[in-house]
Amino acid sequence: MEQERSNRNCPLWGTDICAQLNMRACRGCPAEGKDVRECDAIREDVETFHALLPEEGVHGLFTGEGCTLCRGENPGQRESYSIFDMGHDDPRGRQKKLSLFRGKTFGFVVPLQFGCCKACRRRYQLLGWLPMIITVVILGAALLLVSRETVAESLRNVWRGLPLLVMLLAAGLCFLLSKVLSNVLRARFNRYTYMDLRDHPLVRQMLSLGWETVGEGKYPQPVFTRKRLAYGIGTAAFETDAPSRDADEKITENGEKFD
Ligand SMILES: [Zn+2]
Repeated sequence: MEQERSNRNCPLWGTDICAQLNMRACRGCPAEGKDVRECDAIREDVETFHALLPEEGVHGLFTGEGCTLCRGENPGQRESYSIFDMGHDDPRGRQKKLSLFRGKTFGFVVPLQFGCCKACRRRYQLLGWLPMIITVVILGAALLLVSRETVAESLRNVWRGLPLLVMLLAAGLCFLLSKVLSNVLRARFNRYTYMDLRDHPLVRQMLSLGWETVGEGKYPQPVFTRKRLAYGIGTAAFETDAPSRDADEKITENGEKFD
């Protein structure tokens, strides 16, 4: 989509900072309507943010055609994206950007957008659905069983509370089976896909740089989407996405008009 960063009066227009902010348009940009001093504060924020990231940045996760969740030498073809956020404290002690979980406030949050192949997405989704599938099958079967009058009656003949006990046992079985099967499947899938994102080389590197996963639970759960986030800080594919001030000045020197 064409980007409309057309406010050439903005102190950040055409700079690396503009490229790194990677807004769709000047409208809605944090620098919109700000003076030079305020823009300097934004510049400082963006520079601090980028200094905290691994040197190669995070765009390598989504710019290639291959899946970056696959393990091994031959990743599958990217067909969607898997996104999850990591947060970092602001080393300058400011805490204002995002407060979501456990009362934890992060100074900076970056979306990690993994290019994802069909197989990796299915593995994650199957693991996500597994508890529900198991619950529906087992509780459904138990319910069918105790709702048959002949069965219910023979159960009640043994003990009045037995039909209810059967349902409770079925619920317990669902819980146990979900746990066990999830662990077995996760271990199996993990041979091909990074099922624990904290094992991923880039995430490991970010963890060592002081970033934390945003969200609760033992394993970070990514969100799957066909289209990646294309605008906002941390989403620029290359740092040359913004119109270049140098190129613009060259045009001016040549005496050519522009809008
Ligand atoms: Zn994959």
